Amino acid sequence: MARVLESAMVTCDEARAKVIELVSQQRQPPPIETVPLEQSLGRVLAESVSADRDYPPFHRATRDGFAVRAADLASVPAVLKRIGEIRAGQSFAGTMGGGECLQIMTGAPLPAGADAVLMLEYAGVRDDQVAARRAVVPGENVVPRGSEARRGTTLLEPGRRISSVEVALLGQVGCAELRVFRRPRVAILSSGDEVVDIRDTPGPVQIRNSNSYSLAAQVAWHGGEPVRLGNVPDDVPALREQMEAGLREDLLVLSGGVSMGKYDLVGVVLRQLGTEFYFDHVAIQPGRPTVFGRCRQKFVFGLPGNPVSTLVTFELFVAPALALLAGSTPPPLRFLRARLAETFRTKTGLKRFLPARLEGEGSDLSVRALPWQGSGDLVALAASDCFLVVPEDRAELPAGELVDVLLRTPP
Ligand code: AMP
Ligand code: MG
Repeated sequence: MARVLESAMVTCDEARAKVIELVSQQRQPPPIETVPLEQSLGRVLAESVSADRDYPPFHRATRDGFAVRAADLASVPAVLKRIGEIRAGQSFAGTMGGGECLQIMTGAPLPAGADAVLMLEYAGVRDDQVAARRAVVPGENVVPRGSEARRGTTLLEPGRRISSVEVALLGQVGCAELRVFRRPRVAILSSGDEVVDIRDTPGPVQIRNSNSYSLAAQVAWHGGEPVRLGNVPDDVPALREQMEAGLREDLLVLSGGVSMGKYDLVGVVLRQLGTEFYFDHVAIQPGRPTVFGRCRQKFVFGLPGNPVSTLVTFELFVAPALALLAGSTPPPLRFLRARLAETFRTKTGLKRFLPARLEGEGSDLSVRALPWQGSGDLVALAASDCFLVVPEDRAELPAGELVDVLLRTPP
């Protein structure tokens, strides 16, 4: 947009830091609601969860074999008397004596008097005689009671985003219902005279509103509730009316109308509405004209309308704000390292996030930038699985160099 700020263009890192600093300062704790565990994936925990008992709750056998006293196997082969068996879910009432053993299954509690489990593979069994071919050390193949967590230990703190791992832990401690933060409502408004809804038939020079849908998908992925306000033409009163509607939600994300063109009016309207701007240009490609400000106590992002720019700038700048508003912490921006497959040349001055493909497996990865037609090229983006990150001061990255790669979200 026509520059709203006098300040110089900020770098990608400065812009992210600014977003995180300001949203951290001003966010209020979101309201809390209760959900069943099976609906908790992706939600943010609003309570702390502690161990309801010791974990494991008993000395647990980790192998199928024989519960033994390590001292009885000091010299092997040694023959022990099998006095019974313990299945998972059962326990042995008595105490195992010297020279005795009990057959034990994975997950069963070690009997009193035993201190280790001899693996089935190292035992020869005839009737009730068990010949141990190997010695064991005390504690072998046993996880002691309370060694993972003692009863009352905090396992999860508020702010934790729930993935399948947290679901498992919450299930383990019997949290069938849990308190989570309400998802922030994120208004999504696209603008552009040429933009029509995806269900309409576009005229020859019209384009479909893919951004409203991709932004809604990104909002949902990052823990928000998308509120799609559709598209408005490049017209001040229309923009103003819908932006005012958007400002009633927790966060407003705009796409389009932030470049330098005569009909890029988002900045004009934001200014009319009294927005305080924090940055309006970031030294990146795609996504240079990204705007971040605050209006009527709400944060506002104006993202460029080119679909690849919209997607990239959301991940870089909106995702951390959304995580904070959701009661969580911003996902760190983490790069993988891979060898560049082919020499890459560009202009300096902007940090670039270019559609690319990773090749190879494990830690032996190479990355290849894909040919693309610029920030509108969704076709190239869909053929990619990552972004090649080109630092702002590098005009050439030679083939074979270890370079930064940003995975797409979700990878
Ligand atoms: P703008 O940021 O308004 O200058 O738009 C840049 C480019 O993105 C133009 O080619 C637009 O047609 C395109 N564009 C703008 N808004 C959308 C949208 N909602 N969905 C898909 N493409 C868009
Ligand atoms: Mg436009």
